[in-house]
Amino acid sequence: MSLYQSNPIKVYNTLSGEKETFIPVHEGNIGMYVCGPTVYSHVHLGNVRTFMSFDVIYRYLQHLGYNVRYVRNITDAGHLTDDGNVENDRFVKQSRLEKLEPMEVVQKYTVYFHKVLDLFNFLPPTIEPTATGHIVEQIELTQKLIEKGLAYESQGSVYFDVEEYNKRGLNYGELSNRNIDELLANTRDLDGQNEKKNPQDFALWKAASPAHIMRWNSPWGEGFPGWHLECTAMSTKYLGENFDIHGGGMDLKFPHHECEIAQGKACNGTSPVKYWMHANMLTMNGLRMSKSTGNFILPMELITGENTFFEKAFSPSIIRFCFLQAHYRSELDISNDAMVASEKGYTRLMEAIKLLDNLQTKSQSSLDIKAWAQSCYDAMNDDFNTPIVIAQLFEGARYINLVNDGKETLTSEDIALLKQTLNSFIFDILGIENTQTASNHSEKLNGVIQMLIEMRKDARANKNWAMSDQIRDQLLALGIQLKDGKEGTSYTY
Ligand code: AMP
Ligand code: ZN
Repeated sequence: MSLYQSNPIKVYNTLSGEKETFIPVHEGNIGMYVCGPTVYSHVHLGNVRTFMSFDVIYRYLQHLGYNVRYVRNITDAGHLTDDGNVENDRFVKQSRLEKLEPMEVVQKYTVYFHKVLDLFNFLPPTIEPTATGHIVEQIELTQKLIEKGLAYESQGSVYFDVEEYNKRGLNYGELSNRNIDELLANTRDLDGQNEKKNPQDFALWKAASPAHIMRWNSPWGEGFPGWHLECTAMSTKYLGENFDIHGGGMDLKFPHHECEIAQGKACNGTSPVKYWMHANMLTMNGLRMSKSTGNFILPMELITGENTFFEKAFSPSIIRFCFLQAHYRSELDISNDAMVASEKGYTRLMEAIKLLDNLQTKSQSSLDIKAWAQSCYDAMNDDFNTPIVIAQLFEGARYINLVNDGKETLTSEDIALLKQTLNSFIFDILGIENTQTASNHSEKLNGVIQMLIEMRKDARANKNWAMSDQIRDQLLALGIQLKDGKEGTSYTY
């Protein structure tokens, strides 16, 4: 029996506005799609929070024994800035600014994104498709929508026909609960408005102006895809027409996810997603963290301490711990005080864990460890409630201290269960990096380098210069530089 069979999960579904019992489309398997970053600049800490929320959800589903296909895309084309003007394509703009090819911009910030996620101990998705790698699929979807009479061409661009969609009773606005009047009231005089039948129609394909260098051939002339279409194309391709979980930040609910639902329903006749999940925003100074307003901090600035907002540097593990002390659907305001409090809590937890291996075992337990372990699962089963899980982990730490002080007793079996549960939740599910393993690794690496230094010393003593040079050069190729000095040989990275 898999763990998931004894742990039914409740998920808050934005579409119904309720917590629902999670039942996957195909038993034991889960398809999960999360909108990835737009790689035209550095990801900020707010972006990291959203991706972290879904990293923990992915980790937990896997822990329960589900087979998860996790798709998180890279938006590397077609994401226009808010005014909809083609000249304001984020990639084209940034490439001018940095004097790089647009695809160099994409590569630079994709590499940065991956480095940041590694630093925070994220698991990679199982598929990471790019928008530019799926132009053909997006053109095919656009054609299909035209054939179905739900999209129309206008001056080389193609728009989704929202009025026609509603005429067929398909209900545009169901996710964000907006009606057409509200949509119209919020529509400004955007680029391309005069090409559309109605202001609420959105672009599936945009004709490229001469200045627009990211362009592809299509049946409607040279152009590029609209932003909403890529996620429909990639999620359908890898997860099917109806899959389990679609996630992203709250700010993507409208228009992005609303348009994805419309495109999916228009193409396939079925709503594409069973459970829509939205992560709340990270704020700073009480305002949403955002590149465009300048109210943001980069992950590296917090890790190195090179910023004017925080009093000191904080490690990625502490940042992760701090983020997960808030529920993913709650707003989180990041501040020096919040980080310091998290650091204290984190240290308290780690100190308790260090005592685990040396606890005295007794023939009777005075604490109910099984019930405590289940309460950790119950918290995660209730819409992935990480703050409650962390409160339970502190409770586990309290047990350790009580047993260590001889005030409570545990059998060896219960100590083993306590240890296994703490390890699973802290390291596997919350994804906090196991610094003990990390420091063990660095101790081992140091041992290996010292051994090579000794071998090189012997080689030199035997005038085996070829061997001595080989050791030095190969270490250098790995980024480890040997330095010969009066005191012997040392090394730097
Ligand atoms: P973007 O690269 O702008 O498409 O954003 C990538 C992801 O980060 C999206 O899911 C956004 O919803 C999310 N996001 C953007 N700003 C914030 C923020 N301040 N807090 C949390 N998530 C955010
Ligand atoms: Zn998306």
